Amino acid sequence: MSQKVRAAVLVEPGRIELQEFDMPKLGKGAAIAKMVMSGVCGTDKHSFKGESVQNKGTKNEIRIPYPIIQGHENVLIIEEIDDIGARTLEYDGSTLKPGDRVTMCPDVVCGECWYCKNMPNYPWCEKMLFSYGNMRSCNDGNHLYGGFSEYIYIEPHSRLYKIPDGLPDRVAVLTEVICVTWTLDKAKEFNSFSLEGFNFNDTIVVQGVGPLGLAHVIKARMMGAGKIIVTDVSDYRLGLAKEFGADISINSKNTTEDERLDLVMRETRGRGADLVIECVGHPSVVPEGLRMLRKAGMYIEPGNFVDAGSVPINIHEICAKNLRIVGMCNHAHNAYLPCMEMMERSLGWFPWEKFVTHIYPLNQAEDAIKKSMAEDSMKVVIAANL
Ligand SMILES: [Zn+2]
Ligand SMILES: [Zn+2]
Repeated sequence: MSQKVRAAVLVEPGRIELQEFDMPKLGKGAAIAKMVMSGVCGTDKHSFKGESVQNKGTKNEIRIPYPIIQGHENVLIIEEIDDIGARTLEYDGSTLKPGDRVTMCPDVVCGECWYCKNMPNYPWCEKMLFSYGNMRSCNDGNHLYGGFSEYIYIEPHSRLYKIPDGLPDRVAVLTEVICVTWTLDKAKEFNSFSLEGFNFNDTIVVQGVGPLGLAHVIKARMMGAGKIIVTDVSDYRLGLAKEFGADISINSKNTTEDERLDLVMRETRGRGADLVIECVGHPSVVPEGLRMLRKAGMYIEPGNFVDAGSVPINIHEICAKNLRIVGMCNHAHNAYLPCMEMMERSLGWFPWEKFVTHIYPLNQAEDAIKKSMAEDSMKVVIAANL
């Protein structure tokens, strides 16, 4: 009898079932890995709620194919790997073997389209082969394509990254979300134009300090931010953001937009913030964020990863203030190793162990997703082999 693998399957929006699958047979150039931990991402929350359209209006528009095993922020241990996989799957050139601890980029790109050829460091592929935890149903192929499972099947052309030995699992599981903060590296590129983008000692507002917002607070601090102001509806999350380096917090639930704008103006000698980063994941906060900016300030938009509707914006404000708006739906493939090494280097600088606030076993995956949407959580992870 073949070995059975248990996985949490999102059968339809709002309903997760524990199901069993046959352990797949290892194919050429592939690997099978045992799951250690998988983070619940904003994307997983959206799919759970039925907000299931991503990259809308682009050639790689995604509609979540239910039933699906979610989970793409993965720490895993190689169980089986063939010679080709051992030589080709690790992005930074290591040879892999059973027992190696790795993380992975969820996106598997075609390598042939215009974006893959011309902008190869970004998974902006027009013919994305698939994306772990997000784009391939467990009815298809080798079934095990998400981290909320005891094992995961790694297809050829996936990108794995060996985790430095000194990086604990509960920090390594943050790698993908930390990679998304390359938004700030992008903003730095603009400071070759006088005082545009992200400059040393700039005042930065992070709207929403869930995991993505907190990741931005940490990275902004590492990269030389001045004042960091954070907004959120959860005092719990605002408190954590302060422990990780934010200077000023304001709860949007108890304050008006005018009060928040006044605060930003007071803290910036009346000019406005240099950089505002949207990490709420809802378009309703964008007009306020634009108002917080100084002239030629930059607004970065990594939060609205799924289509959560539209919002009216006065375009005149963008023109009149020379605003720069930068959309970011992903991260660079080559950001993983630098992010892991920087997290390891900074283990003593930030209270990293507090970032993951809840660890759930596989049979409580639904509770894990619900907890990740609660105000008293930061990163929630599922550890299938607890
Ligand atoms: Zn994610
Ligand atoms: Zn491509």
